[in-house]
Amino acid sequence: MRKIRAIEKVLIANRGEIAVRIIRTLREMGIISVAIYSDADRTALHVRMADEAYYVGPSPSSESYLNMGKIIQIAKDSGCQAIHPGYGFLAENSEFGRLVEKESLIFIGSHPESISLMGSKTEARKTMKDLGVPVVPGTLYPAKDIKELIKEAEKLGYPVLLKADLGGGGKGMRFARNIDELKSFYELSRSEALSSFGDPSIYIEKYINEPHHIEIQILGDNYGNVIYLGERECSIQRRYQKVVEETPSPFLDSESRKIMGEIAAEAARKLGYRSAGTMEFIVDKDKNFYFLEMNTRLQVEHPITEMVTGIDLVKCQVEIASGKTLQYTQESINPKGCSIESRIYAEDPDNDFAPSPGKILAIQNPSGFGIRDDCGVYEGYEIPIFYDPLISKLISWGNDRREAINRMLRALSEYYIIGVKTTIPFFEKILKHPEFMSGSYNTHFIDKLEKKKEEFEETRKIAVIAVGLREIMDKSESIRQDDRKISSPWKTIGRWLYLQSRL
Ligand code: ADP
Ligand code: ADP
Ligand code: MG
Repeated sequence: MRKIRAIEKVLIANRGEIAVRIIRTLREMGIISVAIYSDADRTALHVRMADEAYYVGPSPSSESYLNMGKIIQIAKDSGCQAIHPGYGFLAENSEFGRLVEKESLIFIGSHPESISLMGSKTEARKTMKDLGVPVVPGTLYPAKDIKELIKEAEKLGYPVLLKADLGGGGKGMRFARNIDELKSFYELSRSEALSSFGDPSIYIEKYINEPHHIEIQILGDNYGNVIYLGERECSIQRRYQKVVEETPSPFLDSESRKIMGEIAAEAARKLGYRSAGTMEFIVDKDKNFYFLEMNTRLQVEHPITEMVTGIDLVKCQVEIASGKTLQYTQESINPKGCSIESRIYAEDPDNDFAPSPGKILAIQNPSGFGIRDDCGVYEGYEIPIFYDPLISKLISWGNDRREAINRMLRALSEYYIIGVKTTIPFFEKILKHPEFMSGSYNTHFIDKLEKKKEEFEETRKIAVIAVGLREIMDKSESIRQDDRKISSPWKTIGRWLYLQSRL
């Protein structure tokens, strides 16, 4: 039986740009938005923009944005019918989904059972394999001990990747080229898994060479209707984390795109999947694709799919949660043009991407045709140290890839942020790179870029030393020639100290 439940007021269990993004759709739908905030977030943009805002707790997220009981209590006290978890924090916490539903509130997300099933990478791999989806070769259960891992690695062949079973955000992941590396990373990977996810379970996968990360956006309702909304190419990564995303993938052809989409949607249908979700795949250079994991939530990079399909994914999530049938059929999905996203962080690209929290003294946001700036800050705002230092997601759209790139570069050149270091200059470097321009990159792109930078730095240092030595030699020579002067070693040492400061 189809039951529609009216959603008139929604609590957003998140912060920053994603909370702002959800508030915007709710307002368009005529739904009242309720924000929550920690001590550090009293003046945050999402608090200013929401219709109502309530204090949730101290700054550390364990005491605020992860406090399930308090969040549900605020939702009930303020008269909300539903909770949207955004991404990160409680978005993939099945216990939270269950608690919300137990309190007769609507969880705007997937079934808690889907969340827990996909929460374990090995469980997810087993499930997908059974559903006929190709998975990356590797183990389907957490390893008992190092001996077992060594045996499995020998069967798979090196290199392999050690992965945390409950992993996310690239944490606990280690690349091993041989048995010695596998042995030395085993404990490291386990302890990182334990500290990040509260569980040390790890397993291994074969490392796919020259890989592409390509993911399929899925939407499903409560009645078995599932569609796919094209793919996103997310191979521009740093330390296994996405930096730039684009759609469509410049690597896929229409045939492989269709096969991947259909396989992903079919698997989701068989799972009874509801709401927005993403199936991530690793694609090798011959376009063989393998299931990587499923994210049972709205993805950070979802806006690029919205830009080419014209579909508001948050609106769909709310409609699905209220019990409506999916408003779109597969045939009605006709992506148009290209879209790119740059994740702009308060980080210093010249200092190993160290976080750069602080006050935004001045900001000029780009705009204009084909530009979307999902920004979570404002002038005078102080970026807190407690959370992800994401400032904004800058998104461009163009009729074709070249137009989307040029538009992104134009918008980046307009973007001024004074007060904190940002990753803006890094994106300019990426987008202007011939390999990016030609669309021929894979996940090694940034590693290669950084290696080149290191090599350049080395050459620069050698050049500075060579010039310095020449100067010192010339000086010593002139001192020697002038025998009336007494040569002081301090002159030479002083020169060295000066040179050191320039290295
Ligand atoms: P994707 O959605 O592409 O898989 P990530 O895995 O990088 O991207 O996104 C989830 C991550 O985003 C979380 O691990 C968390 O660190 C971070 N995150 C969670 N909430 C927020 C937020 N409100 N603002 C910025 N970053 C957040
Ligand atoms: P997380 O949960 O941390 O997002 P994923 O399993 O999604 O971890 O992997 C993150 C990234 O690591 C991928 O996007 C890809 O770049 C790389 N990666 C993961 N597994 C493999 C593999 N088997 N071979 C090659 N690269 C991989
Ligand atoms: Mg992933």
